[in-house]
Amino acid sequence: MEYKARCHCGRVRFSFRSPEIKTGCRCDCSLCLRRGAVLSSGYIPAADFTPHHDMSDLGVYLWNEKVLSNYFCKICGIFTYIGDGENGKDGYRANLGCVEGIDPLALEISIIDGKSVPLVEGWV
Ligand SMILES: [Zn+2]
Repeated sequence: MEYKARCHCGRVRFSFRSPEIKTGCRCDCSLCLRRGAVLSSGYIPAADFTPHHDMSDLGVYLWNEKVLSNYFCKICGIFTYIGDGENGKDGYRANLGCVEGIDPLALEISIIDGKSVPLVEGWV
């Protein structure tokens, strides 16, 4: 299926192809606990994911080992997706709350054990 997504204010838009989404996941790492988003269950391959066209609309938050880019809209602050590796070459996880036609609260949710991922010194 083709999914379209946007941040709250609509400045940031992205889309991706995926089998029908019936599940989502949440993570218990210190970042995900704070943002509270329901994420796509797996990484969406970069070939199937079209990120927002204008990087200047996006903020990016890097932490811990800095391999995951956490993108958010600079206007409304909404977290939109995570890119794994340089420019998302290893895939993306979407904030399912941004995706048209998906009710993240109606999905079957699994929990990722992010809390057990080792932290680089200085992060909590
Ligand atoms: Zn926005």
